[in-house]
Amino acid sequence: MNAAVEVTDLHYRYHDGTEALRGVSFRVAPGECVALLGPNGSGKSTLLLHLNGILSDEPAADGAIRILGESITRENLEAIRRRVGLLFQDPDDQLFCPTVQEDVAFGPEQLGLNESEIGERVRLALAKAGLPDFGHRATHHLSHGEKRRVCLAGVLACEPAVLVLDEPTSDLDPRGRREFKAVLREIPATKLIATHDLELAVEMCSRAIVLDRGRIVADGPTVELLDDES
Ligand code: ADP
Repeated sequence: MNAAVEVTDLHYRYHDGTEALRGVSFRVAPGECVALLGPNGSGKSTLLLHLNGILSDEPAADGAIRILGESITRENLEAIRRRVGLLFQDPDDQLFCPTVQEDVAFGPEQLGLNESEIGERVRLALAKAGLPDFGHRATHHLSHGEKRRVCLAGVLACEPAVLVLDEPTSDLDPRGRREFKAVLREIPATKLIATHDLELAVEMCSRAIVLDRGRIVADGPTVELLDDES
C-alpha cells in the first residue's frame, strides 16, 4: 500500500543560506497520527510547508516527497494541495474573509463545486469543528480558540486525506486545548502534528518523530520516546 506521506532525503536551504532540513526521511501510513517534536528552529514548520509544495522552489523534482504515492510536481501541485490540508501556526495568517461562512467556503469554491455542494461542505465542516452556528459571525471578533477551529473547518471543508497541523494548541487555554483535541480525534484523515504540547502528543499520536537541527534524531512510539531521557 502507498504511504500517505513519504519523504526521502529531503534537504532545504533558505535563500539566506540557512540549512533548515538536512536529509529528512520518513513514511506515514494512511490513518496514522504522528507527532512532530523538536526544539524551536529544528525545522518542523519548514518540513510541514513542504508537504503541499509551499516551500519547494522546484516542487520536489527529485521525488523527495510523495503524497499517496504521487510525487509533487508543477503539474499536480493543485491536486496535491486538495489532498493535503495545512493548518498554519497562526490563525490570523489563515483567515482572510469577513465572515466565518465565507472563509470556510473559500476552499470548496476553489474546488469548483456548485453552490449547494459548497453550502453542505461548509455546514458539515463547521459542525465537525464544533461551531455549528458560527457561519454568520465576523472572523475578527472570534476568540483565539474559535479562530483556530474556523481554520480547521476551512481545511476540513476541502476533505483532505492528509491533515498537517503546525502547533495547533499553542496559545489555547486548557479548555480550548481540550475542545480542539476532541475535534481532532473525530477526524479520520492521516495526521502529522508539529507540537510542543506533549500531552497532545501522548494522547493522540501513537508515534512521534523528533527533529533536531534539520535532522530526524528519533522516530518511534511516543510514550517510549518521551520516557527516554537521552
Ligand atoms: P521550527 O518549526 O522547528 O521552529 P523552522 O522550520 O521554523 O523550525 O526553522 C528551521 C530553521 O530555518 C531555523 O534555523 C529558522 O531560523 C530558519 N528559517 C525559518 N524560516 C526562515 C526564513 N523564511 N528564512 C530564513 N531562515 C528561516
